[in-house]
Amino acid sequence: MNALACDVVTIGGGPGATPGAELLARSGRRVIVVEQGEGLGGTCLFQGCIPSKIYLETARRLRELGQAHRFGIVGTVAGRPDLAALRRRKADILAARVRGAHEAARRAGLTVLRGTADFLDPHELTVRLAGGEDARVTAKTVICAPGSRPAGLAIPGADLEGVWSSADALELREVPTSLVIVGGGYIACELATLYGTLGTRVRILEALPRLLSSEDPGVVEVLVGKWAEEELPVEVVVGARVERIASLGAHTWSVTYRDAAGEEAMVPAARVLLAVGRSPNTSGISFQRAGIELGPRGEVPVNDVFQTRVPHIYAPGDVNGRVMLAHAATWQSLVAARHILGQLTEPPPPAVVPHVIFTDPEIAAVGADSRDLATHPGWRLTRWPYAGDARARIVGDLTGFAQMVWDAGTGRVQGVQVVGHDAGELIAEATHAITHEETVGSIAQTIHAHPTMNEVISELAAAALSEGPQGAG
Ligand code: NAD
Repeated sequence: MNALACDVVTIGGGPGATPGAELLARSGRRVIVVEQGEGLGGTCLFQGCIPSKIYLETARRLRELGQAHRFGIVGTVAGRPDLAALRRRKADILAARVRGAHEAARRAGLTVLRGTADFLDPHELTVRLAGGEDARVTAKTVICAPGSRPAGLAIPGADLEGVWSSADALELREVPTSLVIVGGGYIACELATLYGTLGTRVRILEALPRLLSSEDPGVVEVLVGKWAEEELPVEVVVGARVERIASLGAHTWSVTYRDAAGEEAMVPAARVLLAVGRSPNTSGISFQRAGIELGPRGEVPVNDVFQTRVPHIYAPGDVNGRVMLAHAATWQSLVAARHILGQLTEPPPPAVVPHVIFTDPEIAAVGADSRDLATHPGWRLTRWPYAGDARARIVGDLTGFAQMVWDAGTGRVQGVQVVGHDAGELIAEATHAITHEETVGSIAQTIHAHPTMNEVISELAAAALSEGPQGAG
């Protein structure tokens, strides 16, 4: 058995581990990264953010083909997806990203082991290497970042073979004639957009009274309105608590739910996809040997620098159950690394984390939204429609708006939501403004190039400013 010693070992090679590991290695620490998957990248690269957006890009282009005549183009033929080519494109992009990740790791001086790690004690890990043999790694510091996995559902039939998880849906082996999605969160809405565009009749069953209940209600209205307007074959049933899934033969499923009135209802489907959240990936790891007790959701409890109760063990990323987003994991990983290096004399300010839902229209949000106004009488909400933007008119997509919650006393930006074309790009400026405690005035006074979509944000700020002198800040 190999015995290795280092300063820092990571469990996992995704966004929760690698950015911090590279910073530590560049700062002279001997760092070993243990990753059980095909390469560095984690769920984000192999089964999450990247594959889903590759396919959604194709879906967007397919929808656009049908609109060519609006842009003065004649002679186009309606396209249809070539699944094999699409999967090849995905594989090529993933391979390029993995190569890039390994090259960056090599440059930083990381040692990458392919295998599955577990705690033997707080300082020692056993690693079952991909080749079959075992290694032991002793480290002064451990970064435990095993990520998350799709949550199951404790109902009959949920674990039947053939029920899709998001990872299965992203294999894109088939385009089912109909798909029932259990859950109405991010994953449901993105995959409904994808499969709906590919021609699948999609039905989303969401237990809560609203689709995307984490989002501002006005924003979600725009999404559902555009699905209807563009005749995307997606039906949303809210207040539908799924209680049973049954297989009735090949490509024939039934999903039974209790509707908002408490009545039992059943829908048939060629496929069923479970998208009811993600759980910290803690099941295969012996945390008790490390002296760590898991929280009620199976998460690893951490403090503001992502340190567990065992001071030399850190747990950035999805495993701590705080914000399950790749870019939040990256940030947490770097905070942990800076703490390990002794560079953080005080805890960092709370992270301002934007999120983007890659539907059509895109949804992006950061900070407070309209639901926070009730508890903050000094805050105001200002909205600016895409229809007022020159670039949106040129792009031919006037659906949507940006809205800003701001403090009428200080002029500070508290939150921004954008629903519409390129929303995910527009949210960066808002995130910067909130992170650096900027005012509405500072955005309005920044020159935004014309004609760009970014002017939606400057016009929004100007509109807020015109509502009160405080915004000038
Ligand atoms: P989610 O938590 O966003 O939504 C799950 C939904 O399932 C909830 O609305 C819940 O009420 C519903 N639900 C639970 N049990 C149900 C039942 N029995 N019947 C009907 N509905 C039920 O989870 P998700 O969409 O699976 O996403 C998982 C995670 O992945 C999220 O934490 C998200 O942060 C991340 N993610 C992010 C992106 C992005 O950033 N673009 C995209 C996809 C996923």
